Amino acid sequence: MTASPHVVVIGAGTLGMCTALNLVEQGARVTVLEAQSIASGSSGRSVGVVGSQLTDPFEIMLRVHSLRRFCQWEGEGLRFNHIGYLRLARTQAQMALFARSVEIQGEAGLRSRLVRANELRDLVPHINPDGLEGGLFGPDNGFLDPHEMCNFLAGIVRAKGGEIRQYRKLLGVERRPGGYRLETSHGPMDCDVVVNAGGAWAPQVAAIFGQRLHIWPERHEAVVIHLDEPLGYTMPMVMDLVNGEGSGLNFRHEKPGELIAEIHKVKSIAPEDPDDYNDQCEEQSKVDLAELLLERVPDLPGARLGRGWAGLYPVTADHRPFIGPIDASEPTLITAAGAGGYGIQLAPVIGQIAADWVIQGAPVSVPGSQSLAPSAERNNPGH
Ligand SMILES: Cc1cc2nc3c(=O)[nH]c(=O)nc-3n(C[C@H](O)[C@H](O)[C@H](O)COP(=O)(O)OP(=O)(O)OC[C@H]3O[C@@H](n4cnc5c(N)ncnc54)[C@H](O)[C@@H]3O)c2cc1C
Repeated sequence: MTASPHVVVIGAGTLGMCTALNLVEQGARVTVLEAQSIASGSSGRSVGVVGSQLTDPFEIMLRVHSLRRFCQWEGEGLRFNHIGYLRLARTQAQMALFARSVEIQGEAGLRSRLVRANELRDLVPHINPDGLEGGLFGPDNGFLDPHEMCNFLAGIVRAKGGEIRQYRKLLGVERRPGGYRLETSHGPMDCDVVVNAGGAWAPQVAAIFGQRLHIWPERHEAVVIHLDEPLGYTMPMVMDLVNGEGSGLNFRHEKPGELIAEIHKVKSIAPEDPDDYNDQCEEQSKVDLAELLLERVPDLPGARLGRGWAGLYPVTADHRPFIGPIDASEPTLITAAGAGGYGIQLAPVIGQIAADWVIQGAPVSVPGSQSLAPSAERNNPGH
């Protein structure tokens, strides 16, 4: 490979754009190929929450890396709404995990604290604390607009010499000595390295290269909640789910008088066709959501459900992203996909690890990230 490889990144979602950014920063020539427009896939359909209120040390560490980058980008003009993140606990065992999370986050320089059941209303005056033991609160977490994030990153990538070609789809490939000739919807393109950041389409992209990638497109819905009047406080991101336990209900401030709610858990895990799925919210889902909201925040002033939409989580068997080569004998074909319901908050660190693989041949800058490579053990259909 040349000292300045030409890398083609497939997909201009958060993972593709973060990968492209890390690559141009390290001197690679980068072209992003996007079949549609920037952030038109899952990224533009997400609710944009960025948080670190987790219990697994490795998952927290990944977010520490991401949050450092978000902080830098915020300084450069990316809007980040620091509304805080409150994860609810139903058991003492969960509170013990939260206590450990506070320690781990503190060691990494992140602010978080335990909230007892009788203090929950200090943060969320409308919450019904029945059945809750308390929560874990990170005041600096929040949300951003993933569309804006991708376009912000695109601006930096272009300024550093990278190219983003929209409405240009990868259709085929010919392997050539030292690289690839890509067949695209607008003619051929030669490159040294390819990064598959195709999100829910990543298995299709992998198939073009004769590879099998086990990522399931899982449909999720989000709904806007209109209130009669603005709340007298900012609703943080509130999440009722700890390591798979809880209803999965989550909601957050969007703007004065408006919240956005989602159910993180899905009833059906039948994989969707990313080119043909219902991208609107089903009426029954709104009923289910309303029931959960009435239980947890019963007295929101004049709350009524507004428009909803659906998008896809690109999910792997172990719910961790795939970053690295599928086939170790082809280190010029890197996957950066499968971020599930966390592809906004994890995108900066995924982009960093993917760029490590391209430039260094190994994920050198994030300890433990070798475990995220799509090894035969991980890349299997054992869903
Ligand atoms: C309702 C909902 C809420 C969510 N909320 C959150 C949240 O709060 N926080 C969070 O962190 N995550 C959230 N997520 C998850 C997050 O949106 C995804 O994990 C993330 O967007 C995945 O990004 P990506 O770049 O991998 O994929 P995408 O954004 O889908 O990008 C892949 C791109 O590849 C392009 N592509 C595909 N095939 C080709 C081809 N052959 N040639 C060229 N281009 C191609 C597609 O057009 C697409 O634009 C949510 C998701 C949903 C659906």
